[in-house]
Amino acid sequence: MASEEIISLLDSPTQKDKEFIQKAYDFAIKAHEGQLRKSGEPYFNHVFETAKILASLQMGPTTIVAGLLHDSIEDGVATEDYIKKEFGDEVYFLVNGVTKLGKVKYRGAERHIESLRKFLVAVAQDIRVLIIKLADRLHNMRTLQYIPLVKQKRIALETLEIYAPLAQRLSIRVLSRELEDLSFKYVNPTEYQKIVNLLNSKEKEALPELNKFIKSVKKALATEGVIHFKTDYRQKGIYSLYRKMQRHENDINNIYDILAVRIIVDTISDCYKVLGIMHSIARPIPRRIKDYIALPKPNGYKSLHTNVLTKDGATIEVQIRTKEMQQESEFGIASHLFYKEKGSIKQKENSETRWFKQFLPRIVNYFKTTNSHEATPHWINELAESQKNLKTEKDKNNFVEDLKVDFFNERIFILTPKGDVVDLPRGSCVIDFAFAIHSDIGAHMSGAKINGKMVSIDTILKNVDIVEIITKESSKPSAKWLEMAKTSMAKRHIASYLEKNKSKNQIPRQK
Ligand code: MN
Repeated sequence: MASEEIISLLDSPTQKDKEFIQKAYDFAIKAHEGQLRKSGEPYFNHVFETAKILASLQMGPTTIVAGLLHDSIEDGVATEDYIKKEFGDEVYFLVNGVTKLGKVKYRGAERHIESLRKFLVAVAQDIRVLIIKLADRLHNMRTLQYIPLVKQKRIALETLEIYAPLAQRLSIRVLSRELEDLSFKYVNPTEYQKIVNLLNSKEKEALPELNKFIKSVKKALATEGVIHFKTDYRQKGIYSLYRKMQRHENDINNIYDILAVRIIVDTISDCYKVLGIMHSIARPIPRRIKDYIALPKPNGYKSLHTNVLTKDGATIEVQIRTKEMQQESEFGIASHLFYKEKGSIKQKENSETRWFKQFLPRIVNYFKTTNSHEATPHWINELAESQKNLKTEKDKNNFVEDLKVDFFNERIFILTPKGDVVDLPRGSCVIDFAFAIHSDIGAHMSGAKINGKMVSIDTILKNVDIVEIITKESSKPSAKWLEMAKTSMAKRHIASYLEKNKSKNQIPRQK
């Protein structure tokens, strides 16, 4: 174990970066001297592994240093002033943010709410705090077997419900996938084992076929003069397969992307060339060709997908993309934060932030501001704001429920006819969309079109639907809408509209 192990994961660290990390490394060893983890290993291992995860995400030196120091204040071995003086305000700010998150233990509903709140407020200040916390949580999940049994399940559930979805929302797939699979194992051991067995048997069955196919792909590419490429295959995540099975009548035969062949090439034109070559060596399955390069997924995902039938009759999914697309799909927001720390944002502005704007419409300003305190995603600010107004116990409980429904569940992305993107929780209907655009549009909605066709306003929306809301001055919400709406925002607006109208219709009291 040495600081080189961290540094070697970085792309092109400067001498200054290396010295900075070395200094934090030395300090962390001293700071945690004599402390042991539940596993019996030195405590330092934990902060070391956390920093390694951050380095593998290609985070910058400041974040990695904060990762090394993230438990040093909490454990009382370093003072705030010392960290500030030796490592600078920015590192202190990040370490302090993570410390605040870590102070809270999740015990029962009330504590849970409390921690969520602190969690959000801290996150609202800098997204890197959250990424360090996710790396910290990942290492804790990797070593969860050493924790007492009763605590295992609670921590795993919390990871599955809060942290993994957040990693997913930030598009950091390397984190969300591992967090999901590790926690699923503790949350639902029976189902976990079932899916693992299923995956193993599928892999055993398909692997000879797959290797044969990859061989023929390599040959065909070489023949056609595509020289720079990499092929491998990836297995679908365990939890992700479990979720997909639930959406497909639990029939594994309805799922085509359990194993996928991946071809990574240099340029976009190579991607299309390779797609053509694929279709010349194996018959494509109709309607299963997806061009996410010309039409990226709303989360920014870019790739070509096709399902082909091999000569032996096997169906194989092939994913074709460039190195940059691969990087973005695995590291999400993390791959962009790195540039921010390096201070070369201006130069990256055009090409890099275009992806970013597609990916999370509400974080567009993140790269425009240099002060990270101002660069807070709107939705996080909104949450931090709304939790201030919670007074009663019921409010607090509702807040947690809303939080889960609105922000941590899977999102869908809906387009206005002009091409603006609105993100909503899965299961939202036209009413939710209308109020998400503007409360006035919601309040005067008389009808709606999805992808050009008239629909009823309780129609459930699908990802990337284009929705046009038709308004009429005389239209107004009815009590029925309350039942049909899914988001708390729409419900709140409808309820307040109904409330106002009720008082208007009442006969004025005599004085
Ligand atoms: Mn920790």
